[in-house]
Amino acid sequence: MTEKSAPQASFVSTKPDRQTITVLGSTGSIGVSTLDVIARHPDRYSLHAITANTQTDLLLAQVEQFSPAFAVMRDDQAAEQLQQKLAGTGLKNTVVLSGEQGLMQVASDDSVDTVMAAIVGAAGLSPTLAAVQAGKKVLLANKESLVMAGHLFIQAVAESGATLLPIDSEHNAIFQCMPFGFQQGECAGLHREGVRKILLTGSGGPFRKTPLEKLATVTPDQACAHPNWDMGRKISVDSATMMNKGLELIEACWLFDTGPELIDIIVHPQSVIHSMVEYLDGSVLAQLGNPDMRTPIAHALAFPERIESGVASLDIIATAQLDFEAPDYQRFPCLRLATEAVRAGGTAMTVLNAANEIAVEAFLQQRIRFTDIPVIIEHVLTNAKQVEPASLSSVKNADYEARTLAEQFISDALAA
Ligand code: NAD
Ligand code: MG
Repeated sequence: MTEKSAPQASFVSTKPDRQTITVLGSTGSIGVSTLDVIARHPDRYSLHAITANTQTDLLLAQVEQFSPAFAVMRDDQAAEQLQQKLAGTGLKNTVVLSGEQGLMQVASDDSVDTVMAAIVGAAGLSPTLAAVQAGKKVLLANKESLVMAGHLFIQAVAESGATLLPIDSEHNAIFQCMPFGFQQGECAGLHREGVRKILLTGSGGPFRKTPLEKLATVTPDQACAHPNWDMGRKISVDSATMMNKGLELIEACWLFDTGPELIDIIVHPQSVIHSMVEYLDGSVLAQLGNPDMRTPIAHALAFPERIESGVASLDIIATAQLDFEAPDYQRFPCLRLATEAVRAGGTAMTVLNAANEIAVEAFLQQRIRFTDIPVIIEHVLTNAKQVEPASLSSVKNADYEARTLAEQFISDALAA
């Protein structure tokens, strides 16, 4: 190389700007994995806020480790408890807030760049939407918020210019397999970008092979013993009914601006391929990796760069075998219900999600059987009013009505 040759690309990365992050639901399975990745990169990330429902001890330990500016508890009583524990330790730099107002504040504060939305269920909707409306980079784990209010959510992304990156492993895999233009937010439609269809994979959960007549007597602990993933209890039950795949079908329709007819659900018991995208020329791109949520979390945190996540290399030789099956709609009626809800449109998806949350909670409390879950959801879908989800209040009304119908159905059935 002579002295006058053109400048060459440098392979030494320049120091990235430090991102300020709020983790909504920091004490949950996704929240803890997120903090694990963040702790590996103190030069890149600093924590603005962490939040929890009731787990003050874990939140206190997280405050001690990360010194965020804010810690938010779900209600005043839990906030008071945290405040007292903080005073006892002499940690004075973290302000304690409470309730939905506190969550919305830390999701939209000017000083925040990135929000990890990892609260479980409908409780995550308002703070996640607040982050979207404030134009943040939103890492979306809380699929229920997109399922219940997808239309408003996507509209808010377009209006605010927020960046929405999927954390759900399947959607993160699909995103990674999408054309470059799509990843840059400049997609003229999947078909024009050469995509033929999406292959959404799921393990089939712990009851893929359980004799059908035994499903009525399975326990919450059996339902939560997922063969490949270690997750919170609600999503674990959703995986056992495969409602999780149903919610993910709806999530994929919103995230990738497509209909259910372009998405095939494939059962893949090993959870090594996290989903695939098929192109018009016959190419099928897949994303593989060990089943560890730190991979999609690290991908979305650093996108478009790549960082260490702490996940071990995939041992493809030891994996040896990858199996694929068509889903069994008789064994998993929740898959049919979710497909019907996305086809019906309107607030049917809001109703599906709300009825499922009530039914799963009742199952976890051992008030109903595992096989009652789809029966309750179908009853509510049949009887709830379906309206256009034109505003947040219409979505919240549909959510409330569906919850009331589900509770009523359970109480009546228990009283009979
Ligand atoms: P989890 O139950 O382990 O954690 C939930 C978090 O939300 C906790 O921090 C809890 O304190 C908080 N929370 C619960 N109820 C709340 C309320 N009413 N108000 C405020 N905060 C509340 O759940 P998880 O498994 O981490 O799942 C979180 C979200 O990520 C879910 O929407 C789930 O579907 C999605 N997700 C999880 C995984 C996974 O591997 N765990 C994978 C894909 C998607
Ligand atoms: Mg998933």
